[in-house]
Amino acid sequence: MLKPQVDEQFGMKLPTYLMLGHMLVSCRVWASDWGYTEENGPKTWKKDYPIAVTGRRQSPINIVSRKAEYDSDLKPLNIEYLPEDEVKLKNNGHTIDIQITQPGFLTGGPVGNQQFRLAQFHLHWGADDTRGSEHTIDGEAFAAELHIVHWNTTYGSFAAAVDKSDGLAVLGIMIESGDVHPGFSVVSDNLDGLIQPGSTDTISSSLDPTDLLPDNIDDYWTYEGSVPIPPLYESVRWIVFKEPVEFSHDQLNALRSLIDSDGNPMQDNFRPPQPRKGRQVKASFQ
Ligand SMILES: [Zn+2]
Repeated sequence: MLKPQVDEQFGMKLPTYLMLGHMLVSCRVWASDWGYTEENGPKTWKKDYPIAVTGRRQSPINIVSRKAEYDSDLKPLNIEYLPEDEVKLKNNGHTIDIQITQPGFLTGGPVGNQQFRLAQFHLHWGADDTRGSEHTIDGEAFAAELHIVHWNTTYGSFAAAVDKSDGLAVLGIMIESGDVHPGFSVVSDNLDGLIQPGSTDTISSSLDPTDLLPDNIDDYWTYEGSVPIPPLYESVRWIVFKEPVEFSHDQLNALRSLIDSDGNPMQDNFRPPQPRKGRQVKASFQ
């Protein structure tokens, strides 16, 4: 089924071609106004999204561990997810999205008593294992980065929360190449039907988002940042775990076999670190 691409997760802005009518839509169904190539990649986003350079809290950043300030007031995170009965996958042209239907919640840590609801998770990865994460730690990039996205229930919906200064909370998990991750296999083993941008599939296997967290969720860095894809809303409370998790080389290669909205292998779909602009990164540990 042909369905025009709308960035359901991070923006309500319809690609311009949608305004031009159905004929054009049918010609360029999967065109997108941004991507990760030289022509439409992060260096060019400022043309359509000036906040890319004028913003005060853009993401990702390089986290300098010795400059992060230990904050003894940071309480443990309270993460309550439920297993999904089936797995809803989508190749949105920029990444693979896993939509969550069960009510899962994040509270505690830097968000305190505010309640954030789990919406989806997705990843960013490199063409090889030497790069791919959006955040870097002391200048080191990881092979991939998993983003678990939540919205502030104060706003009633993801769409209403996405552009509010405290609208989203995203857990960032660094991925290293190593052992097979059994909890991610239900995604990485089921990408055959998701190769083309716009593809969706529902896999009748269970998935527990909790399995994707590192063993140690007590040690994390946190700062105020943005959605790292257009429209780059400055709405994200970032929580980046210190402990990475491992995916196997084959699991990472399965992601690299997807095709993006430019018709290229979906690889290097990450934004590089942005200026910190005086922001203080806090650490839950010392
Ligand atoms: Zn992301």
